[in-house]
Amino acid sequence: MKHLLVIGGCGYIGSHMVKCLLNAGYEVTVLDDLSAGHADALLGGELIVGDFGDRAVLDKAFAARRFDGVLHFASLIQVGESVADPARYYASNVAKSLTLLSAMKDHKPGPLIFSSSAAIYGEPIRSPIDEAHPRQPINPYGQTKHIVEAMLADFDRAYGLRSVSLRYFNAAGADPEARIGERHDPETHLIPLALQAILGRRAALKVFGRDYDTPDGTCIRDYIHVDDLADAHLLALDYLWRGGATTAFNLGNGEGFSVQQVLDVASATAGKAVPYVDAPRRPGDPARLVADAARAKSVLGWRPRYADLDSIIRHAWQWETRRP
Ligand code: UDP
Repeated sequence: MKHLLVIGGCGYIGSHMVKCLLNAGYEVTVLDDLSAGHADALLGGELIVGDFGDRAVLDKAFAARRFDGVLHFASLIQVGESVADPARYYASNVAKSLTLLSAMKDHKPGPLIFSSSAAIYGEPIRSPIDEAHPRQPINPYGQTKHIVEAMLADFDRAYGLRSVSLRYFNAAGADPEARIGERHDPETHLIPLALQAILGRRAALKVFGRDYDTPDGTCIRDYIHVDDLADAHLLALDYLWRGGATTAFNLGNGEGFSVQQVLDVASATAGKAVPYVDAPRRPGDPARLVADAARAKSVLGWRPRYADLDSIIRHAWQWETRRP
């Protein structure tokens, strides 16, 4: 039976990945320092509590058993914080990832799946965005993902370490059975903030800008269900196990929804209007980010199961109403 190492497996996307791997019959070991993740988000597998930037922790994990692949989800993710404190972002997202890649070079577990981001594209010059779009990140968070992708290309050329980078657009939704879901602290993402505002758990949602060049003036994003993201990772592993070359794929639904459309669907789902106030633009927010994910579909055979915004928000709502 194949055994995967999931770094950051106690986080939002990582925990849904662990569920997906267990459902597919794989054995799973998670390495997570619990700085942002939650041990009770694991639906199975073995947990090593430790820092993936600590070479001794990695050496011990890789020496203990042979892994057939590594999935790397551990990352700082706040764009604004990355602008205010880039040192922390480069140390965590880049330097620690370099330690991981160096350990993989020496121990030679299976291939790597890396959590990248649409943030590597920067301000879009065309929409939808395909993988050949210029990569000019406009904040340190996006830079860190861009740099790790560059390291991965070099590590393949020099050491034969093969990898797939998956460039996520807006991950959203939750386990349809509401066992796990989004639990960021602080939460900065639109859908959980809107739903928590409905539940009275936080103040009115701030709509960051109504003066964008979009039909209703609010920003447009491509929301993708977290379980559909996880499925794509499984297919990317299969691709690498079949001998596929190092590459990157966009993951999105190819359809954009505005902030106002999200609020409308959230209100309809909850049966209660999202309390909101209009606020200035948030720095660094492009007007429109929509994926062209045709390559993931044609090369990996990926087919999203929950491509509609209603399902994504319904699952997020079920999670918000039942979460611990
Ligand atoms: N957004 C908003 N109010 C909030 C949080 C987000 O209006 O409190 C908007 C944000 O400007 C962006 C969209 O919602 O246009 C999605 O933002 P999110 O932070 O969820 O994801 P991002 O696109 O930044 O990765």
